[in-house]
This record gives sequence, structure tokens and C-alpha cells, in this order.
Amino acid sequence: MPQLSIIIPIYNEEGNIPKLFERLTNVLSVLQSDAEFIFINDGSVDGSIRLIKELASLHPGVRYINFARNFGHQIAVTAGLDHCKGKAAIIIDADLQDPPELIAEMFQKWQEGYEVVYAKRRSREGESYLKKFTAKLFYRMLKKITSINIPVDTGDFRLIDRKIIDALKQMPEQQKFLRGQISWIGFRQTFIEYDRDARYSGKTGYTFKKMIRLALDGITSFSNLPLKFATFTGFMVSGIAFIMILYALYSRFISRDYVPGWTSLMLAVLFIGGVQLICIGIIGEYISRMSSNVRNRPLYIVNETNVNAS
Ligand code: UDP
Ligand code: MG
Repeated sequence: MPQLSIIIPIYNEEGNIPKLFERLTNVLSVLQSDAEFIFINDGSVDGSIRLIKELASLHPGVRYINFARNFGHQIAVTAGLDHCKGKAAIIIDADLQDPPELIAEMFQKWQEGYEVVYAKRRSREGESYLKKFTAKLFYRMLKKITSINIPVDTGDFRLIDRKIIDALKQMPEQQKFLRGQISWIGFRQTFIEYDRDARYSGKTGYTFKKMIRLALDGITSFSNLPLKFATFTGFMVSGIAFIMILYALYSRFISRDYVPGWTSLMLAVLFIGGVQLICIGIIGEYISRMSSNVRNRPLYIVNETNVNAS
């Protein structure tokens, strides 16, 4: 059984794989830890899978899972976690934005007894202002609206103990937001800080659409606040609308001071219509997720026990 499992999701990373493997093996040889590598090829359309198979034929510790198509980064990592055998797993991006050398520090913290060591980004190199700004905003908003403590400016680059891996396997949700799930699980968690490098080669596989989906998965999996917001605005607008109705009736029948104006009417109708659409949209976000899986999480995760399962 290997001590560490290195989990590497791959989507069109042919320019990074050799360098990544070299840097990873260097770090691991310093740590003198036996490791398995699990490459998950998430439907790459370049030469990635050929390179991975080549590595696997040369090194016994290299394993791979080749997806039938592009399922997305979170699913790829999940597949790696499902199949890994290590006492701990390290999730790392293939593009060398997450420096493999940090694994030594993570390993150290794990030996000190932490079950989760995540890597927090002090700065990010080589990414657009829009990406950095939206990411910053997202992490902070998520922190505000969820009741669990999801660390800000932290991706999936981290070391997790076998206990966490086993707990994750008990969480059957289809919409994976691993960093949130790991926070939810608990145990002793700590972090190290780093400056995130630019991509070594290639370009990002995270399109704007994929980022939006990840953000929505994170929010809907860990917060019901948007739903409450829909209900709240619904009530607010209905209240205002009711007052306006009273006023309209008053002007028409009592003060008899009215203009046959449709401006205000149109405004009101449009406004209410808009709010309704927003609310329906928010509810739809949840419904669409519920229909693909009714959340079925365990009620708690046990760390240690002397009660034998009978
Ligand atoms: N990735 C993946 N499937 C995807 C998109 C990305 O497996 O659909 C992998 C990618 O190969 C990389 C990691 O996920 O190892 C992070 O992706 P990327 O670097 O493109 O995202 P960014 O760093 O730009 O947010
Ligand atoms: Mg990247």
C-alpha cells in the first residue's frame, strides 16, 4: 500500500506532463515516501493520454483513469479519490500553477497530525484581472453566506488524510464542490501559503461557463440563502404592490384624481414580472440539482471510536 496518492486531473496538458512528473518525483524522493500517481484524463483532445500511458509503462507507480469524455475537473478528482490507495492523497493541478515542492511542507504538517493541509494563494500569477477579481469576490461571498468555514483564496491543491477520503466517498452528491465538502467534514485542518505561478504551458481548461457552474454548485450545495432571498423579495414586492393597489383604488374612486396613464402601470407590471422571473430562476437552480440527486449525506462523520460496529 503506498503512503501517498498523487491525484492529477488532466485536460489537454501535454506540454506540462513531463515537467510535472519530473518535479513531483524529485519532491517525493526527498521525502522518501512511496507514492502512486493517478492521472485522470478528462477527455483531453491532445496527446496527453499517450504521454500518460508512456509514463505508466515506464514506472510501476503510475496509474491512470481515462474518461470517456470531458466530465469536468471536480469529477476527475473524485474519480482519483475513489481509486487511490494511499494513506493520504494530494490533489494537484497538472499545469504547475501549484508548485509540487510545497508537498514537502504539506507532508510535514500531515506528520504533525493534521488531516487536511490546504494551500492558500497569497497571490496569483498569469491570470486575467477578471478571473482574479471574480474569484476573490466569489470566495468572500461564499464565506458570508455559508455556515461552514470554507477558506478563502483556496483551490483544491491540498493533502488529505485517508479519513477525509473515506468521508468524501460517503457524500453521494452529484454536484461536487470538493473544497466545500472537505471543510464540511471537519477534522484538524491547517494551511500553508504560497504564491501561485502562471501556467507552465497550454491554456486554461476552465472556461467561463465551467467557472460559473462551479460557483453555482458551491453556493447551492452549501447555502440556502438564495432561496430565502427569493422568498424575502417576493414578500417585499408583494407588500409594495398591495399598497400601490390601495392607492390606485383610492385615486380612482375617492379622490377621483387620476390620469389614464399606463406608464406607472407598465413599470409596476414589469417590475413585478422581473422579480418573479428572478425568483423562479433561483428556485430552478435548486430544483434542477434536486432532480439529479436528492442530497443524501451522512448525518455525521466519525473520527475515532471504540464502539465496534456490530
Ligand atoms: N481540468 C480537468 N477538466 C476540465 C478542466 C480542467 O481535468 O474540464 C484540469 C486541468 O488539466 C488542470 C486542473 O484541472 O490540471 C485545473 O485546470 P486549469 O488549470 O485549466 O484551471 P485554472 O487554473 O485556469 O483555474
Ligand atoms: Mg491552472
